[in-house]
Formats: sequence, structure tokens, C-alpha cells
Amino acid sequence: MAADLASGATTSVALTRAHLDRISAVDGAVHALLHVDAEGALAQAAASDARRAAGSPASGLDGVPIAVKDVLATEGLPTTCGSKILEGWVPPYDATVAARLRAAGLPILGKTNMDEFAMGSSTEHSAYGPTHNPWDLDRIPGGSGGGSAAAVAAFEAPLAIGTDTGGSIRQPGAVTGTVGVKPTYGGVSRYGLVAMANSLDQAGPVTRTVLDSALLHEVIGGYDPMDSTSIDEPLGALADAARQGAAGDMTGVRIGVITELGGEGYQAGVQQRFDEAVALLVKAGAEVVEVSCPSFVHALAAYYLIMPSEASSNLARFDAMRYGLRVVPDGDPSAEDVMRASRDAGFGDEVKRRIILGTYALSSGYYDAYYGQAQKVRTLISRDFEAAFAQADVLVSPTAPTTAFKIGAKLDDPVAMYLNDVATIPANLAGIPGLSLPAGLAPEDGLPVGFQVLAPALADDRLYRVGAALEALLENEWGGALLDRAPALEEATA
Ligand code: GLN
Repeated sequence: MAADLASGATTSVALTRAHLDRISAVDGAVHALLHVDAEGALAQAAASDARRAAGSPASGLDGVPIAVKDVLATEGLPTTCGSKILEGWVPPYDATVAARLRAAGLPILGKTNMDEFAMGSSTEHSAYGPTHNPWDLDRIPGGSGGGSAAAVAAFEAPLAIGTDTGGSIRQPGAVTGTVGVKPTYGGVSRYGLVAMANSLDQAGPVTRTVLDSALLHEVIGGYDPMDSTSIDEPLGALADAARQGAAGDMTGVRIGVITELGGEGYQAGVQQRFDEAVALLVKAGAEVVEVSCPSFVHALAAYYLIMPSEASSNLARFDAMRYGLRVVPDGDPSAEDVMRASRDAGFGDEVKRRIILGTYALSSGYYDAYYGQAQKVRTLISRDFEAAFAQADVLVSPTAPTTAFKIGAKLDDPVAMYLNDVATIPANLAGIPGLSLPAGLAPEDGLPVGFQVLAPALADDRLYRVGAALEALLENEWGGALLDRAPALEEATA
């Protein structure tokens, strides 16, 4: 699309209108978007066309439309985080990611659906109803960023932004056949990203190709003085790394297969497609080693103490006094009565569960046994990664243990839901970058399988080099892109 905009073969207004039409046609069935800004997007598109006509595009992606997860503040556009407590809230400022998208000229089509406050793996915890997987409308699109992944998989948007605290970019990518990248912690500004767990949250690209992710990462990434955890280091030549990788030569690249992330507990077809992809990398010249990360067995437990602890503290700001829902009980209620009634009505079950878990883990007497212990495990996980990266340039695993499950199948079983992120959570705990790309369809159910690539902190370029190589090798086998094989939504909804 960017190439066609540059050559004058199309206009941003035409592209934006086409995507708005697609949204009108299929989003009733997919429900990827919570808010569509047709007027704003078309105005931004017209401004982009004027810049291109004057020979001064704002960036290489000027004019390519995008959808943004509803957890990022967007000036003038509702931002709900998938929660009733923020229904109708319109932020007075842009998150840095949104500001950078606008500065680069990408028209914002709308805001995407998500699990409430990014807590979940299926988008079923949205207060506004679930998103449906475009591959099979009865199945989940992953979460918490299922809306962003489904919008891209359903061709409602060519690009989207997600956020990943424990896997919410990569796992939706895996189950929808799209590409998702969680950058190095501190590589993309969190300013204006409504916090779930500050030490884990990171925004990143959701796209259909590895190169698209690299190009988008270059737009949103880089130092921001507004975020105290932002890293003041160059991003690296990400798109160049993807272009180099696309040649498919993996000679001299050492790839570590993580023993603990595979085998038992992983769906047979997921494991099979993963093994086949590794074999392709070997054929292309990569050297493969097995690496063991023994502390990873404790990653999920550590995450579900650290994340709720941070979230319980962050969500204290929803007090019905400053913004958001305000429920005033009958009689002569105190401020505390108003807060209690508002939080009771405004938060869903999963959010309440995590607030309770987090306040418990942080309470005096339990702090050392739970939160303190989890932080020690976090250090052990970082050490496992350090040891593994001494043996390999990148580490690989299946992104998620299964393909997309049926809507409702795990809703009443929080632990079964949490297990979806068993392979993605270690990267968040250690702050390292990760990418998921489609590795084919599982033979038993015909649904997309995700392949995860992990790299050391600040070596995000390696994700793009290896990811683009594997993508090229796989598409050569398949004779085209995986999404070309997705059942047409028009047929599914007919
Ligand atoms: N599914 C994980 C959770 O529920 C991760 C969510 C995320 O990355 N935002 O916490």
C-alpha cells in the first residue's frame, strides 16, 4: 500500500474508504472494533494525500490506515480499555504511540476490542462483548488484543497496534494467522498506555507480514522523555533486517529450541508445525541447539503474583472522582460509598479477581512469601535467558500451546485461561523482545499455529531477520501467504 501511495497508483482516501467499507461489511460478525472514526480517518487521509501531492510525505507509511487497541489514549477518540468503568471517556491527550502514528501520517480507523484492562487471553472479558476469530467465528481470536489481531486478519485494517503484558500481542497473532511483535521493554513509550502492570506492559505492531511489523515498529519506537522507563538507545535497522532476512539465508545463525516450551501440554499439530518450521531453518543453514531454561516452569506462577500486584495498585485510580463511571447509591452516601458502588458496577469479574489477588499478595505478612518470592523467580528467569543466549542468537518455541478454542470453552476456568500464555510470559518477565509469525495450519483442526522468536534485550533486529527468513521459507512451501487460505468471511456470515 505504501508503495502504491508513493507511486500515485492509489490515494490514502481510497485506501481508508476501502477499509471503512470492509469494516461495515464484516465487523458486525467479527466485532474487532469498539469505535470507528470514519470522519477523522478520512480527514487524516485527505491531509496525507495533500502531503504526497506536494512531494513531502511525513514518513514511508504516510497514508496507510491503522487500528489502535483501546488501551492507548487517543485525543478526541473514546478510550474504554474494554471496561464499563471508562465508558464514554474521551482522553484530552494522545499516548506517545498515537502521537507518533499521527505525526507519521497514518489515519486512525478506530479503536480495537480487548479483554477488560488487558486481562485475558480470549477477548471474552471485554465488557462490550467478545471478538470472533475470522478463521472460525465460533472461536476466540486470542487476547487481550484479539480485536487488533482480528481486524488485521479480517482485512479491516492493514496494520494495528497491540499491547503485550504476558502475550497479548503474540498469542492473538498465533491464533489468527497474523504477525505480532512485543518489543524490548522500554523500546516503545508507555506514555498514555493505560497501565495494567507497568514493569511488563509494552505496545507493539500487529500486521500481516514481518516487514510490515518492522516498518511500524520504526514509526512507534524510540526514546521518549515522557516515559521514565524508555530506553535512550537507537532502535536498530529493523526494516533492513527484515529485508535481509527475506533472502532466506540463515547461515551462521544459531537457533535455540527451548526444551521447557514444547512437548507435553502442547497440541500435536502445533508441535508438528513448529518442528517443521525449525527443520526449514536448518535447511536454510541455521545451526540448531536445544537449550534448557529450568526456571520457566515457575514463570506463570510468578507472573500471576507480580501482574495482579501491579494491577491492583494501578486500578486504584478508578475512584469515580476523577473520571469514568460514577454510581451514587441512595440515601446520604459517603465518598467511600460512591467509590465502592462505582467500582462494583464498573469492573468485571476478572478485574475484580486480580485486584483481590494483588492486594492479598502485597499485604503485610504475605508480601515476602508471595510478591517477594515471585520477584526472585523473575531474576532466575532472566538468568536462564542469559545462559540460553550465550548458546544461541535467538530462541524459538510455539507461541501458544493450542490453536484457537471455542468461545466459552475456558471462560469458567481461570487457570485454563492463564495457561494460554505459558510460552509468552517469560519474555515479559525478563523484558526481552518476542515475535510471533504464522507457521501453518494444524492438521487436526485447520487453524493457524504461531511460531515464536525471542532475542536478547535491544536485539529486536534479530527477530525481524529470522522472522522474515522463516516467513519467506514457509510461503515458498505454501505457494503464498497463510491468510490467503482463510475462509472468506462473506461465506461464513452468509
Ligand atoms: N493473558 C495474559 C493475562 O491475562 C496476558 C495479558 C496481556 O498481555 N495483556 O494477563
